[in-house]
Amino acid sequence: MILDLLFPNRCLQCNLIIDGQSLFCEDCKYQIPFTHHHFDTNNELFQRTKTLFPAESAFALMNFEQGNIAQKIIHQLKYSDREHYAKHLAKWTCERLHFNEKPNMIVTIPLHPKKEKKRGYNQLHTYAEILSEHYEIPVNHQLLKRKFHGKAQALKDKNHRLEVVNLFSITQEIHHQHILLIDDVFTTGSTMATAAWEILQFPGNRISIVVMALD
Ligand SMILES: [Zn+2]
Repeated sequence: MILDLLFPNRCLQCNLIIDGQSLFCEDCKYQIPFTHHHFDTNNELFQRTKTLFPAESAFALMNFEQGNIAQKIIHQLKYSDREHYAKHLAKWTCERLHFNEKPNMIVTIPLHPKKEKKRGYNQLHTYAEILSEHYEIPVNHQLLKRKFHGKAQALKDKNHRLEVVNLFSITQEIHHQHILLIDDVFTTGSTMATAAWEILQFPGNRISIVVMALD
C-alpha cells in the first residue's frame, strides 16, 4: 500500500497516475497501434510470411515503430519485470483473432535460456498460455530448441545465412499437425522462417503465425 502511494502505477504513454495494473489511461488506450489483420486474411504479415515459407494464416496484434506505443510495451515486456504486460497483450489478441481453421498445437519460439533465467519469466510462455486456454489449443514450449547459446547474435551479424540455417532444432518428429508459431516481434521474419522450416521438414505439417507486433 505504501509502495503504491510512493510509486503509483502510471500510464506508459503520458505518465498520468492510473489504476492498478492498467497500462494506459483512458485517452492513451485509443492510441495503441492495433493492426486490422483480423479483418484481412491477406494482410501485410501474411504477404511477408509467404515470401519466406508457406503459411496458412498470419496475425500481428500491433504495428511496431521506433518510439510508438507498441515499441514501448514490447521494450518494457522484454527488459523490465513486467510479466503482466504479456497478459494484456494476450487479452487484446483473444478479443480480435478468430481462426477460420483452428491450429492443433501452439509452439513458442524459444528464448535464449540465459535471458529467460535473468528475467525470471518467459513473456512468450505467459502470452501463449493465455491463448492456449482461450482457443483450447494445447501449447508445447519444448518442440523447438535453440541451438546456440550466447553467440547467436554475433554469428547472425557476421554470417546471417549460417545462423539462419542452424538456429533451432526440433525435439520430436511430428506429422500432419497445424502448428501456431508465436513470437514477439516480426522484423525480417528470419527467426520465424527458421522455426517454420524445422517443422515443415516433416510431411503434412502446416504453419500459422501470431506475433505481438509487426515491425
Ligand atoms: Zn496516458
